[in-house]
Amino acid sequence: MKEALYTIPVNDAFAAECECPVCKMHKDIEKDVIEFTMGPSYMEDDIRAVTDKTGFCSDHIAMLYKHQNRLGLGLILNTHLQYTIKNLEKLMPKNISAPSLFKKKTSDGAVEFLKNICSSCYVCDKVNATFDRYIATIFHLYHSDSDFQSAFKKTKGICTNHYILLHEKASEYISGREYEEFITTLNTVYMDSLKELQGDLEWFTDKFDYRNADAPWKNSKDALPRTIKRTNGADVE
Ligand SMILES: [Zn+2]
Ligand SMILES: [Zn+2]
Repeated sequence: MKEALYTIPVNDAFAAECECPVCKMHKDIEKDVIEFTMGPSYMEDDIRAVTDKTGFCSDHIAMLYKHQNRLGLGLILNTHLQYTIKNLEKLMPKNISAPSLFKKKTSDGAVEFLKNICSSCYVCDKVNATFDRYIATIFHLYHSDSDFQSAFKKTKGICTNHYILLHEKASEYISGREYEEFITTLNTVYMDSLKELQGDLEWFTDKFDYRNADAPWKNSKDALPRTIKRTNGADVE
């Protein structure tokens, strides 16, 4: 089966006014997955079997809780806890013996089981699978669509994490002259936007000087949240 491409949402993200189109794509996917998780899907046995096993990371459980479907989340977490208790009852030994100081401690099955639950998340897995296809779509469009190529060149900026991601992924999808040209464009977009942002941030700090109190803010009023979004991809306002 040919793997899916997501040309519409990727084009939309690159046409949007934002600090990083890749962050926007990720946020949109996350929103859809939260909706899906709290929609009728949780009543389906095969999906519940997965959420029972994986549970959720702390970021996503907080997002699910905010969704307000308290009954749905209650049902999901109830069977997740049932699954956890059932397994722990099998894994926790009845008689505990203290490890010898001289013998390496053998790993504890219950702890390993809980570590696995703590490092897995149904929402993360689903978001990451779709996000990987969105990244593939960026390179597909860059390769085949000149309108997207010019939109990419005109991008207002890209956050540091996603600059690194696109830089590292590029060689999997494009090669030769096209690769060189893509990396040059990516570097220009990232550096130009970083310099512009640094200028705005500097003026933001200069405005705290009483001699600049009456000077215009120019483009610096929201320079601090814009910088945080760009450097850390953090969702601040
Ligand atoms: Zn980003
Ligand atoms: Zn997660």
